[in-house]
Amino acid sequence: MSFRAQYNGTCAANCGFRIHEGDEIERDDDGRFRHVDCVPKPDPTTLGPKEVVCGICWLVKPCRCDE
Ligand SMILES: [Zn+2]
Ligand SMILES: [Zn+2]
Repeated sequence: MSFRAQYNGTCAANCGFRIHEGDEIERDDDGRFRHVDCVPKPDPTTLGPKEVVCGICWLVKPCRCDE
């Protein structure tokens, strides 16, 4: 969740810009602050279509049970 910076600081993403008071920032997993724009976006190429496993044959759908 993002929030507005209360203090100046350094961006944990090393974007080269300092965090200024009032900037939209977010905490990373290590509790450090970074700009929301610097938050790594999920790579769309690694996000495949959601695989659904059939509860009957345990194969990835679509399977023959759907007919
Ligand atoms: Zn940044
Ligand atoms: Zn099936």
